[in-house]
Amino acid sequence: MQRLLPETAFIKSDIMFDGLRYTKALGDAAATSAPNFYPYRFAQGEPDPTGTGKAAIPYLFTLEDGTLIRIKGNFKSPWHIEAGEGGRGHVLCRDGVPMRTIDFVKKPRWLEMQTSDGMSMAKTGAEALGDMLVINVAPGCQYFTNKDESGNSMRCTFCGYGRPDERMVALGQKIDRTALEPLTLTRMQETIAAALDTEKVRHVYLVGGSLTNWQDEADRFLEMARAARKVVGHRAHLSLGSGAIPTPMLEVFKKEDLVDGACFNLEVWGKQLFSTVCPGKQRYIGWEKWLESLYAAGKLFGRGNVYTAMVCGVELEPEHGGMSIDAAIANALSGARELIRHDVIPLWSMYWPIWGMTHPERLPALREYYERFNFEYGKLRQELGVKISDQFQCRGCAYMQLEVDLDRTW
Ligand code: SF4
Repeated sequence: MQRLLPETAFIKSDIMFDGLRYTKALGDAAATSAPNFYPYRFAQGEPDPTGTGKAAIPYLFTLEDGTLIRIKGNFKSPWHIEAGEGGRGHVLCRDGVPMRTIDFVKKPRWLEMQTSDGMSMAKTGAEALGDMLVINVAPGCQYFTNKDESGNSMRCTFCGYGRPDERMVALGQKIDRTALEPLTLTRMQETIAAALDTEKVRHVYLVGGSLTNWQDEADRFLEMARAARKVVGHRAHLSLGSGAIPTPMLEVFKKEDLVDGACFNLEVWGKQLFSTVCPGKQRYIGWEKWLESLYAAGKLFGRGNVYTAMVCGVELEPEHGGMSIDAAIANALSGARELIRHDVIPLWSMYWPIWGMTHPERLPALREYYERFNFEYGKLRQELGVKISDQFQCRGCAYMQLEVDLDRTW
């Protein structure tokens, strides 16, 4: 396939799909780098210096031009990282050839701090994605615990993030209760304050698992946003990353100046796709109401402050219609035009399917789609004169998206 992307965006895409092979330099960097949630798992026959089958590795690194890249382990990858000359810095290599100097994103200092009641700030629901602080104090999503009449789960088909698990225990989240524990909010506030005081935090993004009643969802986020705004003030851009919420509730967020913008994730473009990929969102809110809420947010907060995250490639899957790449690009671009017309800017994340390791033969199509679509969507933003606001997302936090990397090239 012809290379459509600028060189460093191409490297980013390549490593997002192909990953990195383990090296001693990669393993050694884990101690001082932002931690990866997924350890490196050694493949059968791969030398394993730990003897345990897995090793901690860093999460993110940047190229010299500021391109942020996420690390995923893969023994078969042509990419690896070595220590620089004389042990200074690090070098990204492809097939053994040094290509670029890189910097790992450092472990944020607050991760090793404690709240006033002695809890590790690593367990208070905050996560650093470069210079973005993601706050998720209620990760369990009710769509995981609900089923339709045929017994099918209501969760979004690509999602593992919202699965109710042990994260909820430390956060005191009860899956059927809307209100959050007061102590959870206090710990959240202390963690945000520590992060703002010790690191460069440009964006604070409030997210969480969904509730089946959108009024309840709005109530929960109202509580979170009031608590967050108290400590964030206007030192960072604060975004509402809930599901869609009723317009009168959005007006409350705006009136009380609780957030600077919103991002309600639509995931895919088109009612039919939305119904099959996000059955819970369709059942409990519905395509029309989701759009209505997004467009109301666009009107209230204005262009550049309202976004919607999309998953790039799920529509190629046979169970979701198996669109051709050309048809998927045309569909996504028509959605982008319509959303932008309503002052909502979509952002497409790379889609790495759960079956990725067992069906590697299907990955080249996903990658081709991701790169071709990003190229075409970049042209569309250029045509419409729209750029991603660096208040919402910048090159220091776009670890799964290419839009901001392409926006700077024109
Ligand atoms: S709404 Fe969908 S994407 Fe979000 S946590 Fe629930 S299942 Fe996952």
